[in-house]
Amino acid sequence: MTLLSQLRADLADHAGKSLIRRRRTLDTPCGPHAVVDGRQMLAFCSNDYLGLAAHPTLSAAIAEGAARWGAGAGASHLVSGHYAVHERLEARLAEFTGCERALVFSTGYMVNMGIAAALLGRGDAIFADRLNHASLVDGALLSRAEHHRYAHGDTAALSRLLAGSTARRKLIVTDSVFSMDGDIAPLAELLALAEAHDAWLLVDDAHGFGVLGPQGRGALAAAGLAHWRLLLVGTLGKAAGLSGAFVAGHADVIEWLMQTMRTYIFTTGAPPALAHALLTAIDLIERGDALRATLAAHQQQLRGTLRLVQWQRMPSTTPIQPVKIGDNAAAVAAAAALWDDGLWVPAIRPPTVPPGTARLRISLSAAHTEHDVSRLTNALHRIEATP
Ligand SMILES: *Cc1c(COP(=O)(O)O)cnc(C)c1O
Repeated sequence: MTLLSQLRADLADHAGKSLIRRRRTLDTPCGPHAVVDGRQMLAFCSNDYLGLAAHPTLSAAIAEGAARWGAGAGASHLVSGHYAVHERLEARLAEFTGCERALVFSTGYMVNMGIAAALLGRGDAIFADRLNHASLVDGALLSRAEHHRYAHGDTAALSRLLAGSTARRKLIVTDSVFSMDGDIAPLAELLALAEAHDAWLLVDDAHGFGVLGPQGRGALAAAGLAHWRLLLVGTLGKAAGLSGAFVAGHADVIEWLMQTMRTYIFTTGAPPALAHALLTAIDLIERGDALRATLAAHQQQLRGTLRLVQWQRMPSTTPIQPVKIGDNAAAVAAAAALWDDGLWVPAIRPPTVPPGTARLRISLSAAHTEHDVSRLTNALHRIEATP
């Protein structure tokens, strides 16, 4: 077989397992009511939890940022691509999260790819929740440290692994809110274990930042946790409505990361105009209690009205409200039936989730209305009843 025919066979194999993904094309800004592939749809897909992605104030801030700072950064941060507005954004994020210092990146993927390799190497060990985001898994591989994965949320298993480890340096890594399940990691217990075993604790708050805690300060603020051994990762493309990410923590740790993280050093700085707009996004998050109250009301409504028979509503207290179906093809069929009803809910399949746990991933936004949520529950009831 030639390389190309081999690759075609792999693609056909994917298709046979109902694993082929296709992209839908939107012709309207991010929001619940969207024109998708030419059809008017009601969407429950995005991570735009507060409805900021198309917020007029934020769109105006991007334009204002471009007028003030131009279009691009021109170089990496350590060469000549670091602007006063990046400094302001880092100071604001540090203050907002209650950390000493923050370092801003282009994407959360790059933060998570780079941290472990900066803190650890051969002879060290990483302890990771089995359901962590793919970027954390890749970051662990890149670090060359031993990679131990514990069963989801199983702090007893983690404790045993830590006790049995002779690694020089240890790092515990977890999502705060698990992106395909919507549940929250036992952060206080994880920090206690980090203390007991002298480990770093990296918390990826991609889905908590802006949503959880007082003024949306995130999952660690919600849990009342602060410590020099904590590294907080936040992303700015979800609740913050834009793009980018940061890591925050003790000033010495952040200094070390800035000096050594390859995914920080060897990439062009994000446009300063974006940093300018992100300052506005943080203001909107901080003043966003009404948005978070709307979001909480939608969660309540969905949980209060959705009555499933074969499918399973997963236990979640966040805007990520998955419905487990199990079989890949059945999950795809359910998503297709919803689509025919004008409702856009993604079917999530392996390898994004473990085999046999294919699901509909409903994500709620403050931009939804009560009527939107009841349309969804009614459609789910009807489709589950008529397979
Ligand atoms: C989205 C996400 C990331 C990646 O962030 P980007 O800024 O989109 O690259 C990292 N971790 C988790 C848990 C995420 O959901």
